Amino acid sequence: MADSSKLVIRNIGQILSGKLEAPILDGDCVVAVGGRIADFGDAKDLDTDRADMIVDAKGVTLAPGLIDSHVHPVIGDYTPRQQQINWIDSCLHGGVTSMISAGEVHAPGRPKDIVGLKAFAIASQRFYENFRPSGVKMHAGAPVLEQGMVESDFKDLADAGVTLLGEVGLGSVKTGETAAQMVKWARKYGIQSTIHTGGPSIPGSGLIDKDVVLEADADIIGHINGGHTALPDDQITCLCESCLRGIEIVHNGNERAGLLAMRTAFELGQPERIILGTDSPAGSGVQPLGILRMIAMLSSLGDIPPEIAFCFATGNTARMRDLDTGMIEVGKSADFILIDMAQHAPGKDMLESIHQGNLPGVGMTVIDGVVRSARSRNTPPATRLPQIVEPD
Ligand SMILES: [Zn+2]
Repeated sequence: MADSSKLVIRNIGQILSGKLEAPILDGDCVVAVGGRIADFGDAKDLDTDRADMIVDAKGVTLAPGLIDSHVHPVIGDYTPRQQQINWIDSCLHGGVTSMISAGEVHAPGRPKDIVGLKAFAIASQRFYENFRPSGVKMHAGAPVLEQGMVESDFKDLADAGVTLLGEVGLGSVKTGETAAQMVKWARKYGIQSTIHTGGPSIPGSGLIDKDVVLEADADIIGHINGGHTALPDDQITCLCESCLRGIEIVHNGNERAGLLAMRTAFELGQPERIILGTDSPAGSGVQPLGILRMIAMLSSLGDIPPEIAFCFATGNTARMRDLDTGMIEVGKSADFILIDMAQHAPGKDMLESIHQGNLPGVGMTVIDGVVRSARSRNTPPATRLPQIVEPD
């Protein structure tokens, strides 16, 4: 954003940073200028004058906007997979402000010839660069690898603005050897990679076991807990132990296997590898609250502090994916959610209620310093709601 409009959010109850090393920050105020975080801390110490917009947070929690590391968009805010419109807007109401495509695989008639798949990936990247549904930052244009691709294809894709691969294994490239070669070419040209892990997702796809995942060496072990079908437990722990790649846990997978992967990452002292996605739309549908549900599930059943679970869906993903969001830090995108304990939730405060397995209520979302939604139509109602107030 080129303009310098100023947003002040004051009376914040607590700030979640998105960073594992210090997940809760001191302060009651965040200032954004031109869509980026300009300062945060105690309002009395900050320059809050001449704001174009002021939000009175009414004591609720401010956190970075959530990042869904694994989605399958097709075009605009429509998915043919479950014939749904406005699914991205629904996810915004679940606190998601950024999404990463793991391949536009649900496009009817998706091209599988090489020139066609490249053209489609480039077009998909443009669709979402030019049009953000409800303001959500959709990083898309993720080609699905097919046999016969050569190094120059990856250079062409990168030159044209493609930065992601679709899940390796969803196309005709299914052996570790071929996948490894293509992942290397992608990496050479700055394209990030994710691999499908586990049993087939839908008729026509195939099994990708730990040997293929390790040999392919993609940047992200996509849905390590399966999408839907997980690998056997010993293969999941082996994947965590045998490489340093991203450990992606998804809503569309096996929850018990997701907990196993998370615990293994903690045992290895590597919680920074854990990132979250929904893998929606899929056969299991669209989960507008999927990322919040994963945070509550991992925190409660996995017995970890909820402010740590928030990092999985914010700072961890941003760092691994090289996004300028997901953390409360000067210069980062002003992408926030304002959340509070759900009405009548148990626990003494919001974090405790999440630790007991309950969802928070989303009261407002902000993307690039612009308020995108007020009280969520999808979460349980928040106890307190932030309010836009007239600048003094
Ligand atoms: Zn998959």
